[in-house]
Amino acid sequence: RAKESGRSRFKVFSQRMHDQNVRLLELETELRKSLERDDFVTLLQPIVDLDNKRLNGFEALVRWNHPKLGMISPAEFIPLAEDTGLIHPLGEWVLRNVCSTIRDWEKQFPPGTPLNISINLSAKQFVQPTLIPQLREILELTGITPSNLRLEVAETVLMNHASIAIEMLGQLKDLGISLSMDDFGTGYSSLSYLRQFPIDALKIDRSFISRFGEDAESQVLVRSIISLAKNIGVAVVAEGVDTDVQSAMLKDLGCEYAQGYLFARPMPREKAEALLRGDEVLDI
Ligand code: C2E
Ligand code: MG
Ligand code: MG
Ligand code: MG
Repeated sequence: RAKESGRSRFKVFSQRMHDQNVRLLELETELRKSLERDDFVTLLQPIVDLDNKRLNGFEALVRWNHPKLGMISPAEFIPLAEDTGLIHPLGEWVLRNVCSTIRDWEKQFPPGTPLNISINLSAKQFVQPTLIPQLREILELTGITPSNLRLEVAETVLMNHASIAIEMLGQLKDLGISLSMDDFGTGYSSLSYLRQFPIDALKIDRSFISRFGEDAESQVLVRSIISLAKNIGVAVVAEGVDTDVQSAMLKDLGCEYAQGYLFARPMPREKAEALLRGDEVLDI
């Protein structure tokens, strides 16, 4: 009996693996078609200054809006896009889309408006030799103030390619672009390396913030990341802040910026513009 149920469990399992492969193939085909049709949107999630809860900028988060499959989360399609190389056209689409938003905003809003937008770069994008010329071209074409564009690269990506990363980040800085180390705390950065990265900010990974206040360990970790950031002279942003308690504790520890559902969810461009105009305020 035991054997039999083991076998049928295996059948269910392999059926599921098969279904999963079929779905992946389907998604790859659809991803290609969608790139031609422009089925993507970038949502913008506010980043706030914890001192006064004022807007400090946005992070662009891409969504795949498939006509039949509906909204697909980047957690599902970014890995697929990386494996198939489709991350390059997709990444270029995001860069052009966001830079044209920044260009429109620079024309529309008075100086001093916090209209910088961060873009996530995956591992493959970051090490792609065409990245720098591509960015230079987009910056020239749009004429934006380069520091209004921020690029986020995950700590693990930077650490896995440390010497190339230092070189690449240097070139990006030379273009005037702002840089953040994303998902910080998930890798094992050594302080000596960290000092060599010409970054402007560290973003504390959401997993630490969500456990923050519940277990002592994450509290120690968050505290040490904040002091580390101060030590090397970079700003610190907490991501995934979704309670008042987390927000208050982070502020007490000296964390300057935060992002999370407590302040706002990723939103369409029109809503972000209403915030920038002051027609709408963050609901906190
Ligand atoms: P990330 O860069 O760490 O982005 C933060 C993620 O946390 C976003 O998920 C955001 O919606 C979510 N988040 C923010 N605040 C909260 C909160 O309070 N609670 C919870 N539960 N979640 C919160 P999203 O949009 O699903 O993006 C997931 C990941 O996909 C991003 O992680 C980033 O690594 C990647 N990604 C998104 N857009 C792009 C893109 O344009 N290009 C590339 N290469 N990767 C992207
Ligand atoms: Mg990010
Ligand atoms: Mg992040
Ligand atoms: Mg994260």
